[in-house]
Amino acid sequence: MLYGIYKDTRNAAWRCLIDYNVSELPVKPSLIARAAGIKVIKNSDVHELAPHESGASVLDGKQWYIIYDDENTRQRCRFTVAHELGHIFLGHELRKGYHARTFDTTRPTIEQQADAFAVRLLAPACVLWALNVRTMTEIAELCDISNTAAQIRAERMALLYARNKFLTSPLERAVHSNFEAYIQRKKAE
Ligand SMILES: [Zn+2]
Repeated sequence: MLYGIYKDTRNAAWRCLIDYNVSELPVKPSLIARAAGIKVIKNSDVHELAPHESGASVLDGKQWYIIYDDENTRQRCRFTVAHELGHIFLGHELRKGYHARTFDTTRPTIEQQADAFAVRLLAPACVLWALNVRTMTEIAELCDISNTAAQIRAERMALLYARNKFLTSPLERAVHSNFEAYIQRKKAE
């Protein structure tokens, strides 16, 4: 389940959607975590997060844990878990000298990568394209993400629609094919 070999977060997110047989929106990051053997824990149960943190991944021996701030909205909680999956699946370097090992969240690059992974996991471009979804409101509702995350995705989608090069990668075609039944069902609504 290490996707760090992929050069970018786009391929890693596609690979993750394929490997965990995701075939519908909204994508459920907690189910992906469970299938990957990662334990997802509410911060209100463990009180491990620092005040500024919304989530953390911890490797204790061989067991991965994702802790998320469950006082946030559901949409933000989902994004946090997807972001932490990004750190784990992209194989980000673990910080040393910690009782259990976690990621060095002071490095902006790995934070950006984890965010990019999360948005691509929760709002796959080829599915939005197949449903001709373009606006922040539609994306937020369909993908169950915050308006903030949906706005970023909507801006990206505008560029992708203009470029119109969907399904050129075999990975993206595989994702699209897994979502085929869902896409047909949504189109019929
Ligand atoms: Zn992070």
